[in-house]
Parts: sequence; C-alpha cells; structure tokens
Amino acid sequence: MTGGISPATVKIGVRAALVALAAVAAVAVMYLIATTRPTPASWYPKCIHYRASGFHCPGCGTGRALHHALNGNFVQAARNNILAIVLLPTVAVAAGPRLMAWVRGRPAPPRRLLGARWVWLLVVLFLLFWVGRNIPVTPFTYLAPQELSSAETSASK
Ligand SMILES: [Zn+2]
Repeated sequence: MTGGISPATVKIGVRAALVALAAVAAVAVMYLIATTRPTPASWYPKCIHYRASGFHCPGCGTGRALHHALNGNFVQAARNNILAIVLLPTVAVAAGPRLMAWVRGRPAPPRRLLGARWVWLLVVLFLLFWVGRNIPVTPFTYLAPQELSSAETSASK
C-alpha cells in the first residue's frame, strides 16, 4: 500500500507547529514588554536577589533593557543591562540553525558560536559583570541598571 502521511512527516509537522506556537508566544511577550512602561508598579518581575541582598544580579534590569531596546532606545537599554542586550540576540542567532535541524529531524549543525572555549569565556564575563555592576565607583556604576534622566528620555523619543 502506498500513499498516506509517513510518521516522520507527522513528526516534522508537530515540531514545526511547536516552533510556530513558541514564536507566536515570543512575539506576544515582546509586544507586552514593548508596550508596558517598566515602573515599580508594573507587572515586570522584581528581582528576588536584589530585594534580599541589595546587590544587582546579572539579570537585573533585563526587563527594562528589553523594553527600551524594543522601542529603539538602545542607549537606555544598554544602561539597564548591556550583557542581556548583547547576549540575547547572540543566543537567538546561535540557537536558530539547531532549532531548524531539530524541526527537520536532522543532526544538529556543529557549534560555531558557543564552543567550549566561548562558554568558559561567557562564564567569566558573566561573573565579572555580576561583581562589576555592584562596585559603587565610576565607571562600574554604568553597569548597574539605571534609568536615564527624564530630559534624556524625552530627548530620545
Ligand atoms: Zn536581579
């Protein structure tokens, strides 16, 4: 008997549907982040580490940074979390080909961006960023999340 849809084709279709669903969810979340101003009263998750210790973790300011980046204000985005603004697109670019290989049921392509040496470099960078953004001396204070003054904000709109 010939014809019909093979199990492999169904598997690829299910995986493609899952990736499409995740992409729609990601776009919806990005829309919410872009349209919601990050204020202390907004729904953005508050950092448990910062509340408990008073020190910024490497993720502090990521929500504010994404909000500003999605609105085209990259200076203010970098002022809130430059590491997230650099790493998140890098991870997305690095994961894209592997995700597409998974959807097609093919072997993952070799890692070019995130080889073992790069992962160790990222770990060191991550730790230095964590310590550095908590040192209350210029230029380290530029690594801590902070809003620009209202004059700078209105000038950038
Ligand atoms: Zn934090």
